[in-house]
Amino acid sequence: MGQTLTEKILSDHLVEGDLTPGEEIGIEIDQVLMQDTTGTMVWLQFEALDLDEAQTELAAQYCDHQTFQFDFKNTDDHRFLRSAAGTYGAHFSRPGNGICHNVHKENFAAPGKTLLGSDSHTPTPGGLGQLAIGAGGLDIAVAMGGGAYYVEMPEVVNVRLEGELPEWSSAKDIILEMLRRLSVKGGVGKVFEYTGPGAKSLSVPERTTITNMGTELGATSSIFETDEKTKDYLERQGRGDVYTELTADDDAEYADEIVIDLSEIEPLIACPSMPDKVVPVREVAGEKVEQVLVGSCTNGGYEDVLPVAKMVEGREVAKHLELIVAPGSKQAGEILARQGWTAEMMAAGVNVSEATCGPCIGIGHVPASDSVSLRTFNRNFEGRSGIEDDNVYLCSPEVAAAAGLKGEIIDPRDLADELGDLDAPGVELPKKYDGSKSDLIYAEEAIDDELIKGPNIGDVPLKDPLGSNIAGETLLKMEDNITTDHIIPATSDILKFRSNIERLSDFTLSRVDETFAQRAKEAGTGVLVAGENYGQGSSREHAAMCPMYLGIETVLAQSFARIHKANLFNFGIVPLAIDEETYAKIDQGDTVEIVDDVADAVASGQVEFTIRVNDDWEATAELNASERERNILAAGGKLPLTKQQAEGG
Ligand code: SF4
Repeated sequence: MGQTLTEKILSDHLVEGDLTPGEEIGIEIDQVLMQDTTGTMVWLQFEALDLDEAQTELAAQYCDHQTFQFDFKNTDDHRFLRSAAGTYGAHFSRPGNGICHNVHKENFAAPGKTLLGSDSHTPTPGGLGQLAIGAGGLDIAVAMGGGAYYVEMPEVVNVRLEGELPEWSSAKDIILEMLRRLSVKGGVGKVFEYTGPGAKSLSVPERTTITNMGTELGATSSIFETDEKTKDYLERQGRGDVYTELTADDDAEYADEIVIDLSEIEPLIACPSMPDKVVPVREVAGEKVEQVLVGSCTNGGYEDVLPVAKMVEGREVAKHLELIVAPGSKQAGEILARQGWTAEMMAAGVNVSEATCGPCIGIGHVPASDSVSLRTFNRNFEGRSGIEDDNVYLCSPEVAAAAGLKGEIIDPRDLADELGDLDAPGVELPKKYDGSKSDLIYAEEAIDDELIKGPNIGDVPLKDPLGSNIAGETLLKMEDNITTDHIIPATSDILKFRSNIERLSDFTLSRVDETFAQRAKEAGTGVLVAGENYGQGSSREHAAMCPMYLGIETVLAQSFARIHKANLFNFGIVPLAIDEETYAKIDQGDTVEIVDDVADAVASGQVEFTIRVNDDWEATAELNASERERNILAAGGKLPLTKQQAEGG
């Protein structure tokens, strides 16, 4: 039987297991990337593992999320990241050079290679045939040390694209159509492989918009086959040498097939506050807009900003709103400037900002209260923009520019009819992506050879090996769908402590209960109870590290989100699944004791554990874990285990 493209790349990198969907496999990682909010902890853990040098073919550290400065903590972190990249042999991208996914795509992404990144949108370079996966920081540190990355073998789904996009429809509308059909849970445990004549009609930047936002489907990754368009893109980037032709076999068998006829795609929009609340733009036309933001790792490329520049050229942005363009990379910004487009946008009243994530996570350009903000970004979770009662819509650059001109949501086809002289902006790739490389410090030209740690850089907390007894008070009982944002909020006033777990842990679960951290500190240990889908959202490992630091030894939940469950194992917290009845019966403040000898039971592969509540009643809780995950728990986490293994212990 033939193989899918995903299976081919995984086969080439397989070090453990076989390619049976749902089974754990270990794969070799060729490239790693880190962004600034997760990178500091990756390097501190890399240091704690006593490793000397990155072992992967390539490692790259970006400064992108927090480029706006608040106080010394942010600059301290960026200096530490530069020093770590220099010391351990990684490329370093300075603040202002752009978003990790954009800059990586431009400079380092390579077809057929595996990429592991400490950011959930790492799958972006799937658009040029790279198999890229987001993971927790400790997984990155271990992979960078030469260790395998373990993941459940995903099902591979064929998304067959037929036909071609009509004028005014864009790649963003294709991924919004996927979200409309499948929902934010539709991709869990899957890789989407885009094939067919429609896929071939799309440029690489269009493809990467789709693979980037595949994350919103919950997918492990998304990928396109490579072809002349991939080769052409890489040549224009001056990197034609990394091109290789990659296709699925003709007789490849997919777990499922989805067919989308691109000729039927119309301009779509995701309504507040979930990326899958997708409707045709015409359904919400007329809604007054106060802010429009163009940029992000989804639509911040040259090819995304150019349509906006063409549409506003010689016109004026509506007076009551602000249209902000933040290119995804300095390369995009520099080329637009050289071609004169930046001047055209400025003349039209566009606020041209620096290349950063910033506003995507509420850092800068926070919308006014009770107003509508239209963004070309990938996420519109409530509160993510920096204000709790936000109204963020997600759309293509063309729809964003149309709203910027009209002052309200409007289908760009209707705006073109109204104006009479607004043509659909055709987009050509630049002949050569000739942005300068002055903001990249390549590993071989490193300017640091030792770590520089300012006062905001803390120590990596370590947990003792798993003991025989786990017992404690239920310090917090939570509902369904608690996100990593609930566990450790990503707002700038809190995120600035990302390299200092002692300080950051004071904010643990503060969005659920402001007194939680204090109570946990006083108790010294304790238990968390939650409903379904505990830990959904980002790959942020701080959401496991901080509870561990506060002494939490087990989380009892009806179900866990995949990456967060892996992070709980990584930090030695036992994730136990309970049924609805048990969940309903446990109250906050109840004492929970695991009756079994925990260390023995975990080591012996026991699945069912008995919990005793208030010394009064008992119930069953399940530990669903592989042998590898049980070994991690026994050691007190992945860091102590990896150290033990390195020392031959
Ligand atoms: Fe940055 Fe937003 Fe992309 Fe995350 S989703 S990498 S915050 S632009």
